[in-house]
Amino acid sequence: MAPSAISTPTDELSSFHSNGVSSLNGQLSNMHLNGHAPLSTSPSETLDLLCIGFGPASLAIAIALHDTLPKTSPSPSVLFLEKQPQFAWHAGMQLPGAKMQISFLKDLATPRDPRSKFTFINYLFSQGRLNQFINLSTFLPSRAEYEDYLCWCAGHFEREGKVAYGMDVCGVKVGTTNAEGRATSWEVTARSTSSGELVTRRAKHVVVAVGGRPVIPQIMQGLKHVAHSSQFANTITRIEEAVKDSIRPLRFAVVGSGQSAAEIFNDLWERFPDSNVRLIIKGASLRPSDDSPFVNEIFDPDRVDGIYSQDPTLRASALALDRGTNYGVVRLTLLEHLYEKLYMQRLRSSNPSQWRANILTNRQVLSASQSKDSSVKLRLGEVQQNAAGVQESGEEEELEVDYVFTATGYKRNAHEEILSELTKLLPSDSNSKFGVKRDYSVVFDGTKVDESAGVWLQGCNEGTHGLSDTLLSILAIRGGELVNSIFGNRSGSESEATSIGSSSPP
Ligand SMILES: Cc1cc2nc3c(=O)[nH]c(=O)nc-3n(C[C@H](O)[C@H](O)[C@H](O)COP(=O)(O)OP(=O)(O)OC[C@H]3O[C@@H](n4cnc5c(N)ncnc54)[C@H](O)[C@@H]3O)c2cc1C
Repeated sequence: MAPSAISTPTDELSSFHSNGVSSLNGQLSNMHLNGHAPLSTSPSETLDLLCIGFGPASLAIAIALHDTLPKTSPSPSVLFLEKQPQFAWHAGMQLPGAKMQISFLKDLATPRDPRSKFTFINYLFSQGRLNQFINLSTFLPSRAEYEDYLCWCAGHFEREGKVAYGMDVCGVKVGTTNAEGRATSWEVTARSTSSGELVTRRAKHVVVAVGGRPVIPQIMQGLKHVAHSSQFANTITRIEEAVKDSIRPLRFAVVGSGQSAAEIFNDLWERFPDSNVRLIIKGASLRPSDDSPFVNEIFDPDRVDGIYSQDPTLRASALALDRGTNYGVVRLTLLEHLYEKLYMQRLRSSNPSQWRANILTNRQVLSASQSKDSSVKLRLGEVQQNAAGVQESGEEEELEVDYVFTATGYKRNAHEEILSELTKLLPSDSNSKFGVKRDYSVVFDGTKVDESAGVWLQGCNEGTHGLSDTLLSILAIRGGELVNSIFGNRSGSESEATSIGSSSPP
C-alpha cells in the first residue's frame, strides 16, 4: 500500500518539520511493512531500544530480549530499522550447494539457552524436517536452509510489529538533553528506500548492527561489468538473461582468494561450462581454512573477556596470527572439489591455455580499463615475496574479460558515518574514534551523555573483541550480553553482563 494512501491529513500536517523531515512519522508506523503487522510502537514515543540493521546480530538481540526479560513487567518498546525490503541474509551469495561454515548448534539461541523456542532444532521440528535433517548426519546445513531459519526467527518479531523494512538509516543525533545538558535520548533519521522520504524516531538506547560494506578495489571502481561478490547472485541472473541467445563463450575473472572467490569461481564454471573463468590470487596457492577443534576455541564466547583485556599490541599480533581461520581461506571440501575438476581438464589437454578454468597464482591487478564493447581489460602484475615478505611486482600481462567479480571483502566502518554527529560527545582523547567497552557500549564523555542513554556497536569490534566479532559464532551469547547491558535491572540482574549468557540452569 502506498504510504500516502494511508497517512491521514492530520498525520501529515503534524509530522513535517520545515526541513521536510518527518518527525512524528505516522508514515513510519504504516510504511514498508510488506504485509507484516503494523508497528507496535507509537511514532511519538521515545523507544527504549532502536536497533539499526536487522541482520543476525540484531535478530540475536531480539531473541535474547524475548527469552530473558520477565513476561510479567511491561515489555520495553523496541524497533528494528532495516534497509532491505524484507529479511535476507547475504542474498547475493546464496549459491546452489553453498554450506554454512559453522555448526548449526551455534544458532542464535542454543549457546545461551538450548530451551529457547528460537533454536535451529526447534525450527527444523516446526518445519517437519527434524528427522530428515538428522539423517543428513551433518552439523553444516546449507546456507539456504540457514537463511530460512533466520527468516523464521525474524517472522516472530515482524508479527509483533517490531521491524520496519525499507528504512536506510542515515544518521543519529542527540534527541533530548537534561538540565545539565547531557544527552538523554537519540534521534535516528532514516530514508525510506521506496519513497525517499526522511523519517525520524527517538530512542534512549541505540544499537548499530549494520554489518560490512563491500569493498571493490579502487582501480576497478566505476567500471561497467565489474561487481562485488555480495552482488553475485542477482548480477549473474541478469547476465544469464542477457547472454541467453549468444553463442560466444563468456570470459570471466574472479579476484580474491577466500571462500566467496572460490565459490564464485566454481559457480561460474558450472553455470557456463563453455566459458573461460580465471581466478586471480595474490598467493602461490589457495589455502584451507583452519577449523580444527583447538583452533576453533578462539571463537568461543568465553574467549572475548581475555581478548578484550589483552595488551593492544599483543592482541593485534594474536589477531594477525589467527586470521587464517576466516580471511583469504577456503573450506577444504571446496578446495578438493576444485582441485579434482582442474585435474580433469588435464585429461583433455596438457596445455593450460586450453583449459576453461584456471587459477592465476602470484598475480595482482595493477590497473583496469573498459573496452569499447564494455569488456574489461585487466593489467596483471606478477607478485613476488622478497626475503622480508614484501610484495614486489614482476612480469606484467593483460587479461581481457567480459565480466569481473571481486571477492575482496568488506569494510566495517559504516557506524562512523551514521554516528558522525556524535563525535563531539566523545572523550577529548578519543581522536574522534568510537571506542567501545567490553559490553560494546560506546565510550562517551560522561559530562555530555547521561547514564540513561547509550549507543552500542555490533560487528565492527574485531580489533578489541576478536575474530568472532564479525561472525555468527557468539551471537546468541552476545545478544544476551547486550540485553543485560541495556536492560540489566529489568532482566532481574544488576550484575555482570555475562549472567544472561551463563550456562547454569535457572
Ligand atoms: C557469503 C557469506 C557467508 C557467511 N557465512 C558465515 C558462516 O557460515 N558462519 C559465520 O559465522 N559467519 C558467516 N559470515 C559472516 C557474516 O558476517 C555473519 O554471518 C553475519 O551476517 C553477521 O551479522 P550482522 O547482523 O552483524 O551483519 P549483516 O548480516 O551484514 O546484517 C547487517 C544488516 O544491517 C542492514 N543495514 C546496513 N546498513 C543499514 C542502514 N544504514 N540502515 C538500516 N539497515 C542497514 C543490512 O541490510 C543487513 O541486513 C558470512 C558472510 C558472508 C558474506
